[in-house]
Amino acid sequence: MFDWLVVGAGFAGSVLAERIASQRDERVLVIDKRPHVGGNAYDRYDEAGILIHQYGPHIFHTNSEAIFDYLSQFTRWRPYEHRVLAEVDGMLAPIPINLTTVNRLFGLALDSEGLARWLAERAEPRAEIRTSEDVVVSAIGRELYEKFFKGYTRKQWGVDPSELDKSVTARVPTRTNTDDRYFTDAYQYMPQHGYTRLFERMLAHPNIKVMLQTDFEEARKEIAFRRLIYTGPIDEFFDFRFGKLPYRSLQFRHATLDQSWLQPVAVVNYPQTQAYTRITEYKHLTGQRHEKTSITYEFPSDVGDPYYPVPRAENMALYKKYERLALVQPDVWFVGRLATYRYYNMDQVVGQALATFRRICQDIPVKKTP
Ligand code: FAD
Ligand code: UDP
Repeated sequence: MFDWLVVGAGFAGSVLAERIASQRDERVLVIDKRPHVGGNAYDRYDEAGILIHQYGPHIFHTNSEAIFDYLSQFTRWRPYEHRVLAEVDGMLAPIPINLTTVNRLFGLALDSEGLARWLAERAEPRAEIRTSEDVVVSAIGRELYEKFFKGYTRKQWGVDPSELDKSVTARVPTRTNTDDRYFTDAYQYMPQHGYTRLFERMLAHPNIKVMLQTDFEEARKEIAFRRLIYTGPIDEFFDFRFGKLPYRSLQFRHATLDQSWLQPVAVVNYPQTQAYTRITEYKHLTGQRHEKTSITYEFPSDVGDPYYPVPRAENMALYKKYERLALVQPDVWFVGRLATYRYYNMDQVVGQALATFRRICQDIPVKKTP
């Protein structure tokens, strides 16, 4: 008999397993249907011996000292500031759009104030900012929107930006200075020995047992447990009784090239051409030295593993129906990107899991051994 069954060995499940095992001294079984821990953050050495991310590029960034300190128990860090270029009109230019982007693309020599005026002249004010189109067009105008956002978003999500919540493209800011970093968070690092090693250390507690290639459907019949942490898709947990929640998927094509580098930065986006959205070159992220280089192309798809909840009003309404059921499930906690249908980054999932742990401890005092 386990005190807890944790479904999913990604950040949500692994953080909760670690906290429960180490702070409550209770026995936890972690299962995952995949053959590895780490969820979508899983990384591995490919055949050439290059560390790659099996499910696309994962860059850790956070403004939360508490989250950074928590994860620092399980890894050392490599400082890394992410930079992305977009191939637009045959040129490579920084995204988020900044002073360099506009000057390069339009052959201008604006300064920051000049760019602010240039953008203001083009911005199309909107009474209400609701969609992913509104948020960009109202800030920088239609031309830049069409070059950088429209095609990429249609490819990535399979719908027009006008049909997606504003929160999606609002993830990418615009800057009038030359800061070309993708993120501006206070903490920007990669785990020095990779994510998988971080997860292995997190789960290496005598109170934790891990079973891979084990689906919840089978496990629930055969394993005795008192309480459940569920981090899979919430609609699946409830047998899709209100209908399927849309999740966007990706097909990853990994390749190793017989050359030392392919591109100047870790990620190049393709908003205007190609069936893939972006190419990632891992050695930029990991700092690994190798005579060859490994890359991944991401092809968005409707079918396949669920990777992204699709932020649209109608999907949120459907999620809320499932959430109402989830809230009254006794002894079950729903955590993570799939189970709470939120487009969360890794640090947000860690924060959500730590908050869930605090709630569990308030609701269920730890049994004192006599
Ligand atoms: P997951 O990592 O999805 O883990 C859930 C686990 O549950 C999976 O391993 C799954 O196999 C398992 N599972 C599901 N159902 C069952 C079942 N029925 N039985 C058994 N096991 C089950 N975040 C960042 O902060 N920075 C980035 O750069 C970044 N890049 C990303 C790039 C891509 C392409 C994607 C898809 C995501 C990216 N993210 C990034 C987000 C990050 O992946 C997530 O925030 C994080 O991994 C979510 O953790 P999780 O535990 O909620 O879910
Ligand atoms: N986006 C875009 N063009 C880009 C980069 C991003 O249109 O060059 C939009 C797109 O809709 C994308 C969203 O902004 O899905 C969020 O981008 P982010 O890089 O945060 O996506 P993720 O890394 O989560 O896939």
